[in-house]
Amino acid sequence: ATTLEPPRIRRLDESVVNRIAAGEVIQRPASAVKELVENSLDAGATSISVVVKDGGLKLIQVSDNGHGIRYEDLPILCERHTTSKLSTYEDLQTIKSMGFRGEALASMTYVGHVTVTTITEGQLHGYRVSYRDGVMENEPRPCAAVRGTQIMVENLFYNMIARRKTLQNSSDDYPKIIDLISRFAVHNISVSFSCRKHGANRADVHTVAACSRLDAIRTVYGVSVARDLMEITASDDNPVRSIFKMDGFISNANYVVKKTTMILFINDRLVECTALKRAIEVVYSATLPKASKPFIYMSIGLPSEHVDVNIHPTKREVSLLNQESLIETIQTAVESKLMNSNTSRTFQTQP
Ligand code: ADP
Ligand code: MG
Repeated sequence: ATTLEPPRIRRLDESVVNRIAAGEVIQRPASAVKELVENSLDAGATSISVVVKDGGLKLIQVSDNGHGIRYEDLPILCERHTTSKLSTYEDLQTIKSMGFRGEALASMTYVGHVTVTTITEGQLHGYRVSYRDGVMENEPRPCAAVRGTQIMVENLFYNMIARRKTLQNSSDDYPKIIDLISRFAVHNISVSFSCRKHGANRADVHTVAACSRLDAIRTVYGVSVARDLMEITASDDNPVRSIFKMDGFISNANYVVKKTTMILFINDRLVECTALKRAIEVVYSATLPKASKPFIYMSIGLPSEHVDVNIHPTKREVSLLNQESLIETIQTAVESKLMNSNTSRTFQTQP
């Protein structure tokens, strides 16, 4: 017979709570890389380099030349909810930085081993310190350092056996990491990026700062993509609707591939918007004779009160105000660009 005695409810250990939460923020090696690169961008870096070993499970190392971290802040750097970017809830409304939760570094220390090396402007030496479960493992040790911060994450998910096994069995995260750095490099053209496997002398992504957007796309995605792109802009300054500006590059009728590439930044945040992607694909299949999928780079600027950045810890999917009318305006712009390119192509190929 089954007993009707209810089980006791107990408070979970803080370490258990933290590890569960950390596993949600850092779902896979690529999510750790995204958080680290965003921190480097927030720190004003103009050069960011990434080194990866074993798809990020053995090692992820991100080095930047940003403003560095103060010695006094090192003790709380990796505690949960410590940040230099947000202080009141209202700040969320206008926040420009990519981070704001103060959760990323903390999370990494709950599911991996984190070592930080950093130096601030005007200092003669830097400091190196390691963290576990949110706390410093030792006093920061003085060390030689160049400008900026280097963060090393080793043995990611060492204490989450199931996660580690799944990731080891699936194909490794390195292609995802390359894809991520490629996207950041195309959008942030004043920053030079590099990404390579540990021990490799050649980088798999390598861009130089201060090139044009098209140059950046060519460097990262190749000549064959860059030569078939058209510049596109759209805006909607009708005061009763949403106010937005969009600019980017989209592929023309000569570009024929089976899979869409969509690089989307909204207010300089790398995001996904499935509805917008689908809407653009529809225009391509309706306008072009060959069933080609597009290459799209789009940067959309919206008033910050029109974007809710706070819907998920990974901040990947944003929700927008007036999403439908915004998508419609973009669809119309894409359609007219494509029609023009299509007719000019027909004229060119006529005998
Ligand atoms: P958040 O980015 O949400 O503030 P993080 O856990 O990612 O939270 O980082 C915590 C804090 O550590 C940041 O607010 C920032 O002050 C500092 N920090 C992290 N990475 C860097 C970096 N590469 N350069 C300078 N400061 C950094
Ligand atoms: Mg951050």
